[in-house]
Amino acid sequence: MIVRIGHGYDVHAFGPGDHLVLGGVRIPFRHGFVAHSDGDVLIHALCDALLGAAALGDIGRHFPDSDPRFAGIDSRRLLRHVRELLSERGFALGNADMTLVAQSPRMTPHLEAMTANLAADCRTETDRINIKATTTEKLGFVGREEGVACHAVVLLCPKN
Ligand code: MG
Repeated sequence: MIVRIGHGYDVHAFGPGDHLVLGGVRIPFRHGFVAHSDGDVLIHALCDALLGAAALGDIGRHFPDSDPRFAGIDSRRLLRHVRELLSERGFALGNADMTLVAQSPRMTPHLEAMTANLAADCRTETDRINIKATTTEKLGFVGREEGVACHAVVLLCPKN
């Protein structure tokens, strides 16, 4: 094994609430996410990319939304669990690159804190984690401010 690539994608719709949680950062907002967990699309996309790279399926297989243990769960706990699964199999994160797709709220002020959270949970350095944010120029469900999407790609390397 040299390196392995993984891709993840997630969407959550806005619903009642007064804040979003993205990358483990609480962002005050006029909506919340409709979700079984905290709805952290950034972490869900990252988990799916990590699991995909290791050929371990997807987040729904490991944390089914029919399981009451995961109701309202802090998605950072899911990410730390995924990191452990990979570590047990001899994988370490090479790097991760993510794109949050949201018309609002503005993500830029929060990217640094999100990056620090993900690096801590993956037990890696912040320069291996990149989070970008874009709008869709008001097109589609994101542009109509119905929710947020996120894409993630990762490389896994052999653990030292
Ligand atoms: Mg999700």
